[in-house]
Amino acid sequence: MEYPANESNKDNPDSSATNGELLTKFERATRALSTLSAGNHTLLHASDEQELLHDMCQVIVEKGGYRVAGVAYAEHDEDKSIRYMAGIGVDKESMEALHYTWADTEMGHTAMATAIRTGQPCVGRHILTDPIYAAPAYAPLRELAIKLGFAAFTAFPLRLDGEVLGALGMGTIEPDAFDENEIKLLSKLADDLAYGIANLRMRIKQQAAEATIARLAFYDPLTELPNRTLLLDRLQDAIHTAKQHHRAIVLLHLNIGHFREINQVLGYRSGDQLLQQLAQRLMHTLKESDMLARVGESEFALLLPSGGADYAIQVAQRLIIALHDSVEVAGLMVDPRVSIGIALYPGHGTEADTLLRRANAATHDVCSAQGGYSFYAGGQEEESTRRLSLMGDLRQAIEQNELLLYCQPKVDIASRRVCGAEALVRWQHPAHGMLATMEFIKLAEHAGLITPLTNWMLDAVFSQSYTWHEAGLERALSVNLSAHDLYDPLLIDRIQGLFSTWGIPPELIQFELTESALMEEPTVALETLTKLKKLGTRLFIDDYGTGYSSLSYLQKLPVDSIKIDQSFVMPMVASSDSAVIVRSTIELGHNLDLEVVAEGVDSQAVWDHLAELGCDVAQGYLVSMPMPAEQFSNWESEWTRKSA
Ligand code: C2E
Ligand code: MG
Ligand code: MG
Repeated sequence: MEYPANESNKDNPDSSATNGELLTKFERATRALSTLSAGNHTLLHASDEQELLHDMCQVIVEKGGYRVAGVAYAEHDEDKSIRYMAGIGVDKESMEALHYTWADTEMGHTAMATAIRTGQPCVGRHILTDPIYAAPAYAPLRELAIKLGFAAFTAFPLRLDGEVLGALGMGTIEPDAFDENEIKLLSKLADDLAYGIANLRMRIKQQAAEATIARLAFYDPLTELPNRTLLLDRLQDAIHTAKQHHRAIVLLHLNIGHFREINQVLGYRSGDQLLQQLAQRLMHTLKESDMLARVGESEFALLLPSGGADYAIQVAQRLIIALHDSVEVAGLMVDPRVSIGIALYPGHGTEADTLLRRANAATHDVCSAQGGYSFYAGGQEEESTRRLSLMGDLRQAIEQNELLLYCQPKVDIASRRVCGAEALVRWQHPAHGMLATMEFIKLAEHAGLITPLTNWMLDAVFSQSYTWHEAGLERALSVNLSAHDLYDPLLIDRIQGLFSTWGIPPELIQFELTESALMEEPTVALETLTKLKKLGTRLFIDDYGTGYSSLSYLQKLPVDSIKIDQSFVMPMVASSDSAVIVRSTIELGHNLDLEVVAEGVDSQAVWDHLAELGCDVAQGYLVSMPMPAEQFSNWESEWTRKSA
């Protein structure tokens, strides 16, 4: 490769060289060669770009015997400035004072600038005699050359991925230095340096990519907390250490209640924000040695590497307080409820996986509506396994129409006339027999099966009501809705569709909503009730007295009836407290112009007492146990005959 060399080199063919000149040539080639080999060594050992640039300059000066060496990078700013990166024999301040630029302007003709701009080496510039440097603007450079003791300067472009990154330059004491051989070797050195820089940058990118992969494998991207994999890993380590030191370990499993509803009603982004805010709050309660992880969609786990049951309780209470205040998401205040399950090493398990599973199982013992904490108690896992298999069976039972519709009559107390019936679902399990309704309703709520179950029930109730209607029996049937149904955006359309399909008058279908379901999300509840009311149906507040609703809230609801919970009705004859509650509920209902129904009327004494208090309707075993829907009209004929 030919390079632009200075005058003295060009007219200096080997054939006419003197011995002295040959010796100089040999010396120059030797110094370039030793620079190159020392440079290679530097390249191999560098681990940081800045260090590489510095070491390369050092090699050029110390091994190569050059007076000065420096590296500068081209900036792509407006002035096309040159940034001093490293140097030996020159200092940063002096170089920066020259205001180098690689633009094609008067100040852009130094060797470094030319090498950057042209992408070609700029060889052997005589600082003091080259006409380019005669301009007054170059006076500071000439002064610097005199001060630092170099007379000629050569610069090589540093190419990276087809672009010129900057230049490597070196200055010599001799004004006529740099012959062709030396330039070849030094040019190779510059290429090696560029390769070294590219290599280091690639390595950094690779390390960053590896770190990202590791982060994704072990951390949750949403909360930036460790994930389940990392938690189990650390838990296993903690168990190992605890075993050696005969210490206990605490593992807390936190379930955030209502998370699914929040996601459904406010959207996934709001759900994400809620989790992020909760994670932040939890982080503030931690000690340095504690480890908080996100182990499920709305589940966190906290590992306390030492401490027993008392300490676990303290921490659980601290966490409950930390999460107690409402969180603002999407402009709404959301009340997070947390259920905490606690498992201890070694008492509840000696393997990481077992402890986590058992801490999780313990959360199911906490009432999800109220939150709180609970320790693992044996048997919960067997219970979980049974529940899991029941969930699968329930899905199948709904799909294959294996549920049953039962009805329980409601009777007007004053006239003893049947005024309606409550529709109650039943499930006759092929292996376990008739299952407790409350148990599988809860199961459906946990397994996301409540919508299909409600839909099954609605179909069954409309079809039954049509059958009665056809047979001339105009008997209102009430359907129980779960809290979860209130969020179902398709519920109202579906009910409307059923009215159109069967042509049933709206007063024949009624809905019951428990007071606690209404209190979970009062705004959503009010919205859905208003829509149901617009369809012309009658609405009941079920299990009244167990949900702590306020009078002012109750007044706003478009309901027609309240059903006093059976836990107050059943003992009202024996317990004066219960009797007081029943009496004041009847008064309250009547003051609000609501009909009052008593549930759990299982004895004549209760019936009589209710009649005395002016209660409107009774439902209970005294009248009838719930029965298969097809038996209802026969039962009613019998009841009417007996009551006549
Ligand atoms: P609920 O809506 O309060 O229904 C009344 C419950 O009290 C029924 O229990 C009924 O059998 C029972 N009961 C009635 N009178 C008496 C009595 O005199 N003594 C006693 N000990 N119990 C009486 P069931 O059918 O087991 O239902 C329990 C709960 O399950 C219901 O309470 C309701 O909340 C829920 N449920 C039932 N069917 C459905 C349904 O189709 N959908 C939904 N979402 N929930 C349902
Ligand atoms: Mg009910
Ligand atoms: Mg009830």
